[in-house]
Amino acid sequence: MAFEDVFPEPLKEALDKITLIPSYGERGASRFVYNLLKLEQEKRKEIVESLARAVESLKPCSECYLLTDQDPCRVCSDPKRLKKFLCVVEESQDAYAIERLERYRGVYHVLQGRIAPLEGISPQDLTVEKLMERIEKNKVVEVILATNPNAEGEATANYLAKVIRDRFPKVKISRISYGLQFGTLLEFADTLSLEKSIESRKEIEDLE
Ligand SMILES: [Zn+2]
Repeated sequence: MAFEDVFPEPLKEALDKITLIPSYGERGASRFVYNLLKLEQEKRKEIVESLARAVESLKPCSECYLLTDQDPCRVCSDPKRLKKFLCVVEESQDAYAIERLERYRGVYHVLQGRIAPLEGISPQDLTVEKLMERIEKNKVVEVILATNPNAEGEATANYLAKVIRDRFPKVKISRISYGLQFGTLLEFADTLSLEKSIESRKEIEDLE
């Protein structure tokens, strides 16, 4: 009997679909699906339904690209948030990591990625143009570059610092500093380190 005749079609389909998620290879898909199927029926259903709800209701904010279930997002639509402070992050989960500190009073801009030449991701693939528009429109006084402390995050921050400096010479540009260890993803940084790295952010002055 051929393998296709033995292997259940719904299982094959579930595995194939999960593989479509970036960074989920066959292994990731296999771990997710088989472990999910080990759970009790009721639990599985809850998980799948919560995913379905998330997929249905979450979209990038039309202003800052933060994943949100209302548009504009809760940060952008809060009149107490100061639009003249703009914190630039790679992904929504980074902004939410900072939100968890309940200290930052500015707004965010989600790049939807980072510059990664090896993967063919260039500035045009990110939300850089919209970032420029927002700096102008909101009369931003400080841009805080909070991309991840790894090679690609650094390269992205350097690129942004240059283009922002060129277009808006008066805007202060700062980079979160590292209490965060190089290579730590912002999303998973412990609260204290993340808080320190934002508080002790450094202004970027010298750009070659
Ligand atoms: Zn928003």
